[in-house]
Amino acid sequence: MTTPDLTAPSNFIKTIIEEDLKTKKYDNRVHTRFPPEPNGYLHIGHAKSICLNFGIAKEFNGLCNLRMDDTNPTKEEAEYVESIKADVRWLGFDWQERMYYASDYFGRFYECAVELIKKGRAYVCDLTPDEMRHYRGTLTEPGKESPFRNRSVEENLDLFERMRAGDFSDGSRTLRAKIDMSSGNINMRDPVIYRILHAEHHRTGDKWCIYPMYDFAHCISDSIERITHSICTLEFEDHRPLYDWFLNELNLYHPQQIEFARLNLSHTIMSKRKFIQLVEGGYVLGWDDPRMPTISGLRRRGYTSEAIRNFAERIGVAKRESTVDIALLEHCIREDLNKRAPRVMAVLRPLKVTIDNYPEDNTEELDAINNPEDPDMGTRKVPFSRVLYIEEDDFQEEPQKGFFRLSPGREVRLRYAYFIKCVNVVKDDSGKITEVRCTYDPATRGGDSPDGRKVKATLHWVSARHALDAEARLYDHLLLKEDANDVAEGQDFKSIINSGSLEILTACKLEPSLANTKAGDRYQFERLGYFCADRDSLKDKLIFNRTVTLKDTWAKVQKKGQ
Ligand code: ATP
Ligand code: MG
Repeated sequence: MTTPDLTAPSNFIKTIIEEDLKTKKYDNRVHTRFPPEPNGYLHIGHAKSICLNFGIAKEFNGLCNLRMDDTNPTKEEAEYVESIKADVRWLGFDWQERMYYASDYFGRFYECAVELIKKGRAYVCDLTPDEMRHYRGTLTEPGKESPFRNRSVEENLDLFERMRAGDFSDGSRTLRAKIDMSSGNINMRDPVIYRILHAEHHRTGDKWCIYPMYDFAHCISDSIERITHSICTLEFEDHRPLYDWFLNELNLYHPQQIEFARLNLSHTIMSKRKFIQLVEGGYVLGWDDPRMPTISGLRRRGYTSEAIRNFAERIGVAKRESTVDIALLEHCIREDLNKRAPRVMAVLRPLKVTIDNYPEDNTEELDAINNPEDPDMGTRKVPFSRVLYIEEDDFQEEPQKGFFRLSPGREVRLRYAYFIKCVNVVKDDSGKITEVRCTYDPATRGGDSPDGRKVKATLHWVSARHALDAEARLYDHLLLKEDANDVAEGQDFKSIINSGSLEILTACKLEPSLANTKAGDRYQFERLGYFCADRDSLKDKLIFNRTVTLKDTWAKVQKKGQ
């Protein structure tokens, strides 16, 4: 575990907590929770909430619970529970023994509902969902009271008991809080607190055929766990009066709900429900497809938990919705990998280069620096021989204006090796260049010329005889548009999916030092980007995901803004 970052910037939530500590509102306790619904894999937005909740607990010497908000039986699966635990752990947080399930509180929720009925604060209603909608009113018009609102306590207790016993069909009755049908806040217009649903639950099986609604279950769960600060996203702001109403009416321990703006990222969707459509519709290859903004997708793509935590810290918390440029997330991973990823040479689109004046069977071991940012990472040997590969686009037969790399008659440096000069070009019948012939200058070994001769480009390369085969998967944004809602009339986000978001290159060549690469190992391929070995790698063919390119568009934007 990392030590608390005492320099972490303040935010309005911390200010509230500091104030509560001063006034001893919760006897000096700080206890938060992260309460995901296990209906999908977590995404980078959840990471923000995880970092916030666990981060605050750590900073104030408090505790943070992990709670599965599993009150909705039809959508939840055990697979999701496991993925959530793995993701929170990977992000670097520890709930110790405090892993809870809202479904463990079903008995308690039921008792609370009975108590509300006894107090005359809840009633069984027979309106159909359509009728209920009609009775609810609108933002500008008050609602109408249900004809079942004034049932006696005895009748309500009997009906609710029979709802639980399974006497009624799905949707035929609900239990509703008796609050105020003319409230300006629609959430307070006699909200449903229990519904009938004959559905199997992943933990309680068929024990229950009535299930509590989110607003009712959530505040009671927080109360049972003696949470002090119940931090949630802005869309629950209008639900806070209801949160408070339930706890007051039930006379229960009362946490403070605090709302913050959810994370939106450009070029990205951020909803488990939409991810399911991507996965099931075959738009991506699974929940952890490296194009997905899921935590498991980012991990597979090569993101580090440090970079994600740093990103969460940088975006901060606010009270107003906004969209964060995905370039900032990319900037954070680049910054981290720049420090830790060893540099290696890899050629993604190989073009054969033969050095005519280099001895046929000779091999030399040249010294290469593992990370110029970190001298402790040392050096390694890279083999050089007569036949090499360079990047296809590092050669132009007729160089365009501004192209300074290899072309006929021109000299360039091969990194850590020699100056080479192109003397000839070999083509196949179709006119495609299949090989470039060069000569080298033995006096430039290591990449420096003793006579001070300058070259305008340094290329990366791999010795053909020593190269390892690899596949590289290059990713681009999942959405073509910055804003996921920027779609034509009647269309949804699927209409702006970037069909070019995955490019697979199958003939890549790597320097031999990568022979013992394991899944998850990260490198900088010089001049190309950061790459992470995928778990699909084969014995004789490594597979790499490109985590991010080297071009930092965020840094550029920042500079311009200065
Ligand atoms: P989704 O729409 O993706 O399913 P959700 O809000 O329904 O998201 P939950 O599992 O209910 O997902 O969320 C668990 C916690 O994560 C909640 O406290 C929620 O406020 C928070 N959260 C969800 N999405 C974001 C986001 N984009 N940014 C910050 N916090 C988020
Ligand atoms: Mg939810």
